[in-house]
Amino acid sequence: MGKKSVYVSMLGISALPLLILGVLVSVFSSLRIVSTIHSEEGNELRGLGVSIVTMYDELYPGDYRFSNEENGFLMKGNHPVNGDYEIIYRLKEELGVDITLFYMDTRIVTTIKDRDGNSIVGTKADERVVEDVLKKGKEQFYTGIEIGGTPYFAYYAPIYNKSGGPVGMIFVAKSLREIRNHIMEMVTPIVLLTAVFMIVMGYVSISYSGKMVRGFRKIENFLYRVSEGDLMSSMDASILVRRDEMGEMARHIVAMQKSFKDLVEKDILTGLDNRRCGEKALERLHRSALEENGKFVVVLGDIDLFKKMNDQHGHPGGDAVLKAIACLLQKNVEGKGSVARWGGEEFLLLYENMDLPSALKALECLLKEIRETMVNYKGNEIHVTMTFGVVEGSTEEIHTLLKAADDRLYFGKEHGRNCIIYDMGEENE
Ligand code: GH3
Ligand code: MG
Ligand code: MG
Repeated sequence: MGKKSVYVSMLGISALPLLILGVLVSVFSSLRIVSTIHSEEGNELRGLGVSIVTMYDELYPGDYRFSNEENGFLMKGNHPVNGDYEIIYRLKEELGVDITLFYMDTRIVTTIKDRDGNSIVGTKADERVVEDVLKKGKEQFYTGIEIGGTPYFAYYAPIYNKSGGPVGMIFVAKSLREIRNHIMEMVTPIVLLTAVFMIVMGYVSISYSGKMVRGFRKIENFLYRVSEGDLMSSMDASILVRRDEMGEMARHIVAMQKSFKDLVEKDILTGLDNRRCGEKALERLHRSALEENGKFVVVLGDIDLFKKMNDQHGHPGGDAVLKAIACLLQKNVEGKGSVARWGGEEFLLLYENMDLPSALKALECLLKEIRETMVNYKGNEIHVTMTFGVVEGSTEEIHTLLKAADDRLYFGKEHGRNCIIYDMGEENE
């Protein structure tokens, strides 16, 4: 099965929706702004168109008519409209709009010039404008209608005589570029703000996801090492101090590792290292002797006449003795080496970085303490002694060292017990 990183999933549930949300917000708000600007600009253009028509009515009362006497001029009342640019240019200057007055479909006055800078007066309106506005008698907005080579956002409305007959059109417009600039001015800050928000949130969610995933990877690595049999492996401290579920999980895993380690390495009854663990410790010391000339002392100890204690106090009484002795042994090797339950009532003691005389001193103290200890079981005081076989560590094979310690132990058993044997030829403790 292909491996899929949780990092990808985390980004999928954090950064991706954020990206989609950001794009949606930008698009939606941009569309809203575009439509609002269009409707605002439209209202402004419509208002201006109506004002211009009203202004002409007030300034020059009377109907529009085409006067042949005046050389084909458009008249408003008695005033010739042709050439009357003052009003429309003033408005263009003040409001930035282009204005055209049509007589029917022909431009009579206009502020629009073609690309060469010539007024387009006298030119005809676009056919669809004639169709929509003049013929149908309806006002109309056009986005992008091209006049004199410039695209416009334009408002057209029909002009009527008092009799109600259509005589022309009013055109008020802004160049599309100007409208677009206005839109860009409004949209850009929103898009930029959304982009900055997305970048910040994206950075936060990516770095947070990365942090989480790095934590998961540390736990995964730890579990891998443990599953490979490395029970001494330690969990990264940065995970253990976390106060969230990940920290909890890591602490549970470490507790599980300890339980597992105890199950594998500890003796259930006494809590001491078991034989397997004792063997490993001996192998380690032996290796250090081979590689670094390390010193150590191997001791096998056995409780004297233990069977008798079992017989007298029952198996649980024997167990109580084992536990009490285990305690004394553990205390004795503290900081000096290690002790393991070798089997039944037999123990392996290893003194590290010690020569034989120092180890014997420590053992003498231990035996003295054992002799002086009374194990209390169900109101009975059980007196215990032990016999120890001691051998100084060397580069000799491990089983040879153990055999030597065992031989000395049994030599002690045969010579009255309750003693420490380190040399079978000479006098011992
Ligand atoms: P010696 O001084 O020669 O060592 O005599 P001993 O009686 O101690 O030796 P022996 O080997 O005859 O007896 C050991 C006994 O230890 C036999 C066995 O039933 C008992 N034993 C082994 N493991 C346990 C244990 O876990 N609990 C208890 N209570 N007894 C155990
Ligand atoms: Mg015994
Ligand atoms: Mg024994």
